[in-house]
Amino acid sequence: MKYHLPSSMDEYEELIGRMGAASYVILAGGTDLIAGFDGGRPVPEHLIDIKAIPRMNGILEHREHVEIGALTTIEALRRDEHIRNHFPALAQSCEDFGSVQIRHRATLGGNIVNASPAADTLPALFIYNAMVKLRGIQGERVVPVQDFILNPGEVDLQRGEILYSIQLPRSECRSLFHKLGLRQAMAVAVVNYAIGYTIRDHHFTHLTVAAGAVAPRVVYLKTFMDAVADERIALDRAIALVDNDIAPIDDIRATARYRRTVLKNLLLNTLTELLADDRKR
Ligand SMILES: Cc1cc2nc3c(=O)[nH]c(=O)nc-3n(C[C@H](O)[C@H](O)[C@H](O)COP(=O)(O)OP(=O)(O)OC[C@H]3O[C@@H](n4cnc5c(N)ncnc54)[C@H](O)[C@@H]3O)c2cc1C
Repeated sequence: MKYHLPSSMDEYEELIGRMGAASYVILAGGTDLIAGFDGGRPVPEHLIDIKAIPRMNGILEHREHVEIGALTTIEALRRDEHIRNHFPALAQSCEDFGSVQIRHRATLGGNIVNASPAADTLPALFIYNAMVKLRGIQGERVVPVQDFILNPGEVDLQRGEILYSIQLPRSECRSLFHKLGLRQAMAVAVVNYAIGYTIRDHHFTHLTVAAGAVAPRVVYLKTFMDAVADERIALDRAIALVDNDIAPIDDIRATARYRRTVLKNLLLNTLTELLADDRKR
């Protein structure tokens, strides 16, 4: 395997052009990739480390949206004041992420492209309607994150493209993230979810919920969200509709049945508390 460290997008594109049909893989923090090689992932002919490409690491505040470079680390997101204040679900998803060492190496871009059904940042990116900016030899395109994630470990990334940045449109909604793991740190989620909401007159006038580790990819709990937003049924009855939106499996961490039950219980608890807090104001 030959290692490359392009120092600009132009150099990266030239390198890809020279490679022809040779196999390659992109390296960011390496926390998934290197573990994958140890676990039997096929070793490509070329390894392209993108960490020296400028302007891919950091958070830029624009009027309409915030742009996060794909190489921004989980730790940087966790600490960033602007993200904490305006996109709290994303900051919270970085809180119990791996360990201190992992958070300093792991990147937001790597978490997205790895496309794990249990990826912690994805539910938050879903509720914020994040857009991913892809750049490569064919030019640039921007797509909604929920369309970018196709299947476990599979994303809509063409040969020669990299995930360059993530755009978060500004919104007035409040938001939060919750993760249940088998322990406090170094835990893959048994279930995780992010909620975007607005409460008026003690009712949810807007509610978006995205959940992870309960389907092959992170999913919106659409049937449930629609029922609550329409106020067709009370929360404690609507919660059963979550079953229509998820398709969990049994694995070493939990059974499908446990995932269904715990997601509904946690979600009902969270939403009930949000309404109760609102009544106290
Ligand atoms: C001990 C441990 C604990 C962990 N804990 C958690 C956790 O709590 N929550 C969680 O969600 N994940 C966790 N992970 C998984 C992992 O750390 C994250 O998914 C991380 O964000 C991956 O980022 P990275 O920069 O290390 O990606 P890499 O390993 O470098 O890359 C991952 C994949 O994405 C591709 N890629 C990366 N960046 C780009 C880009 N910009 N453009 C195109 N392709 C790209 C790579 O080719 C590779 O296929 C853990 C991993 C370990 C080893």
